[in-house]
Amino acid sequence: MRLSNVTTVTTSPGRQRTAIQQGAARLALTVIAEAADLGVSARKTSPFERPALAPWLRKPDEYDAIVWSHVDRAVRSVNHMSELLEWAEEQEKTLVFVMPGEERPLVVTPLSDGRTIRRCMDLAYIAEQEAHALSARLTGAHEALRATGRYGGLVPFGYRKAPHPSGTGWCLAPDVESAALVRHIVDRVHQGDSLTAIARDLNDRNTPVPRDHHALLQGRSTGGVRHGHTFDRFRWTSGTLSKVLRSPSLMGHRLHRGRSVLDEDGRPVLIGAPVLSRSEFHTLQDLLTARSPGPRRSRGAGSHLLTRVAHCGACGGRMYFRPRKPYIYGDYVCAAPANGLRCPAAAAMRSDWLETYVIDGYRAATGAGGPVSRADLQAAGARVTVTKGRCGGGVDGLSGPDTSRLTLAMGAPSDPAA
Ligand SMILES: [Zn+2]
Repeated sequence: MRLSNVTTVTTSPGRQRTAIQQGAARLALTVIAEAADLGVSARKTSPFERPALAPWLRKPDEYDAIVWSHVDRAVRSVNHMSELLEWAEEQEKTLVFVMPGEERPLVVTPLSDGRTIRRCMDLAYIAEQEAHALSARLTGAHEALRATGRYGGLVPFGYRKAPHPSGTGWCLAPDVESAALVRHIVDRVHQGDSLTAIARDLNDRNTPVPRDHHALLQGRSTGGVRHGHTFDRFRWTSGTLSKVLRSPSLMGHRLHRGRSVLDEDGRPVLIGAPVLSRSEFHTLQDLLTARSPGPRRSRGAGSHLLTRVAHCGACGGRMYFRPRKPYIYGDYVCAAPANGLRCPAAAAMRSDWLETYVIDGYRAATGAGGPVSRADLQAAGARVTVTKGRCGGGVDGLSGPDTSRLTLAMGAPSDPAA
């Protein structure tokens, strides 16, 4: 059988083309066409939105495989990778990432096992992190200079005091050591580790908690008195971690009582370069919210009306809220792919449609009027299950949800594991 394929080139076309040709030859594929999206950001556009590649993805009958030189030439986001893998499985296409420098190409066939899928998701995650780090570096210096905020008071974790660029007062700059620790912790959250497990490892390695870290920076001794007991050093708990990871100060925001201070245009006042970009921070909040074990979790920026209420019809897992910039609504999407898990048919639905549907159902069932909170929904045992829509959605998709995809259950006993 002879396989044919389409290739994709995004930057430095010469070297990528060579890598693709070598990879194709090695797998006995015949190149029938090339899709070159030069100058198109893989971070901002999904493969299905790229001018050269997208038309090919819509006519899958014309080839058997797609070859990229590297995963990061194909996608720069975990969500895009999960879309691409889903498409390839549905269309029974083979995806090849040549990965120069590696022993052999990464090949995803319709029969590939979970390890291959997991490897693709890991590489997509790395590509996503690299893209964020790059854009943070490009904008960080500029933002720090634009920041009018001067700093006084407690130094948030991940930062150290630095002279303000104007020459008077202080601002904050990322502290190499603690900012690296924040990144390490964020990576572990992305890998699916619980805050409790992360806290245990940090304690095992004698990593100072924020309070002790600042004490050491200022030449003071660690530990102190807490709850009437004297400690040589304080210990990490899931609470300490949550406090660090939930703080918008990680984006360089000035805080007042834990909330970002905004300027007259509604933009956050910065007191230094961000440790995490805005999108990294919000992705993290969504992950923390999606993973929170109990109802007593904090209600940070990442909690949405249907968090823990909306579930994916295919895997039964939770759906999390994914913002859709610049719209005020976003989507509830199956959390499995973002957690590196395989879902056979990951569901997604516009958040405003799903929320309206659930609120209407809740009001009809309970006769309640007025605003509806998530606590109300959870107290009523509301659970909405969403199944995956047909590809494309169709014209009906523009006016409201396809309610045949939705099931709303009320008053079911609440399942603490759900
Ligand atoms: Zn799912």
